[in-house]
Amino acid sequence: MNASEIRKSFCEFFESKQHQIVSSAPMVVKNDPTLMFTNAGMNQFKDIFLGNRKPSSPRVANSQKCLRVSGKHNDLEEVGHDTYHHTMFEMLGNWSFGDYFKEEAISWAWEFLTDVLKLDKSRLYASVFEGDKEMELEKDMEAFNFWKKYLPEDKIINGNRKDNFWEMGDMGPCGPCSEIHIDLRAEDEIAKKGGAELVNKDHPEVIEIWNLVFIQYNRKANGDLEFLPQKHVDTGMGFERLCMAMQGKKSNYDTDVFTPIIDEIAKVTEKKYGESDEVNIAMRVIADHVRTIAFSITDGQLPSNNKAGYVIRRILRRAVRYGYTFLDQRNAFMYKLLPALIKSMGDQYPELIDQKELITKVIKEEEDSFLRTLATGISMLDKIVKKTKEGNYKVVEGKIAFELYDTYGFPLDLTELILKENDLVVNRKEFETEMEAQKQRARSATAIETDDWVTLMQDDVEEFIGYDYLESDITITKYRKI
Ligand code: ATP
Ligand code: MG
Ligand code: MG
Ligand code: MG
Repeated sequence: MNASEIRKSFCEFFESKQHQIVSSAPMVVKNDPTLMFTNAGMNQFKDIFLGNRKPSSPRVANSQKCLRVSGKHNDLEEVGHDTYHHTMFEMLGNWSFGDYFKEEAISWAWEFLTDVLKLDKSRLYASVFEGDKEMELEKDMEAFNFWKKYLPEDKIINGNRKDNFWEMGDMGPCGPCSEIHIDLRAEDEIAKKGGAELVNKDHPEVIEIWNLVFIQYNRKANGDLEFLPQKHVDTGMGFERLCMAMQGKKSNYDTDVFTPIIDEIAKVTEKKYGESDEVNIAMRVIADHVRTIAFSITDGQLPSNNKAGYVIRRILRRAVRYGYTFLDQRNAFMYKLLPALIKSMGDQYPELIDQKELITKVIKEEEDSFLRTLATGISMLDKIVKKTKEGNYKVVEGKIAFELYDTYGFPLDLTELILKENDLVVNRKEFETEMEAQKQRARSATAIETDDWVTLMQDDVEEFIGYDYLESDITITKYRKI
């Protein structure tokens, strides 16, 4: 099955179970101070779970565009380096609002994966919430017993609070979840080492595909849990991961969701995917990021200097930087990937076709401008290298690296990379001190993203305390309560 067919079969399956198919909400969230980007299919149903809105149907399903680059869900560091975390991805989901519960959710998930898609049952695992002393909760025996109908006990794995208990925030709806994992390793490897102990251990071929959340509690302001009068189901399955499993691939980037884009990157840059680790990582980063940028532009979010726009700009720059450093791209090239992106996703997302010209123009302009910045930074750095070497020093002042970062948008890891080629290093401690000092200087006001949502209370004022520096040169806005 190709990707479009897989997506379609998911919707048709849940339609046959009386679900209403709804559209994806925008990926860039406007008018919600507590959330910058949609990070899960259930975001658009938040008000239903909180009891503030009635659902259009007690059962819905869809494919949702998600972005995980900020707040509680930030996968950016992984993207490109592994083969199954994206910044933007599609989440297939089905929901019950006070309607069906664990039994149906589990049996339909199983039916869809094994009967409809015919995935190999012997490669599947389920995880269930093992209970938690501190929370005074027992193991989720209900879920365990339903899974026992389909899986031997040794393939039903206990999961802790981190992986198997979902909470919206400090307060509000929450509950245990049950995840489905798949072992994609070769037969002989499976024979050597069973998969159970590899579940949830970041193994690239034993991966989580579907999360079934059973919303049965409400966490009160005092921290106590109470049973909800109505129980809900919220599920999310990684579409690109499902495509990988279905198409017998070992990487999301080898599925038809990504191959047209990767092929085009190879053509444009005259490099080969598979040539070296560095080239592979760079190509994956670019293939991933170009989707994110194109989709955020179609959502009306252009790269800019603040908030969501700034996050998007940093993602674009991350891709340019990988292209520059590992694929020798000295000129704008990402904008050339649009036709390939449209080829892979245009039929499901016609907005890509409608806005092709705008997307192309914006990406090219951003690339050109960042490349100019890089060129300035690099020529400055050349002078610094020369001076440092002349003085017979080995260490470049952190202050200089910070100035390159702060004034020229020149990321620390790129500075370090160039210095390393010249046998030099940066004084990182000094760099961090400068960064800290800058944090203290910056001031602004919006909301924080540490949970799926943050409930802003009355008189709950937050003060901007600056940007958090991460290796990837993406910044996370930080706030503290005042
Ligand atoms: P993981 O443990 O792999 O990071 P998760 O537990 O954070 O995944 P959930 O929040 O449970 O993910 O989201 C539901 C599903 O969405 C996951 O089972 C997975 O298939 C998919 N998914 C999550 N994060 C990503 C991502 N960054 N890129 C692609 N798919 C993802
Ligand atoms: Mg995750
Ligand atoms: Mg997980
Ligand atoms: Mg999960």
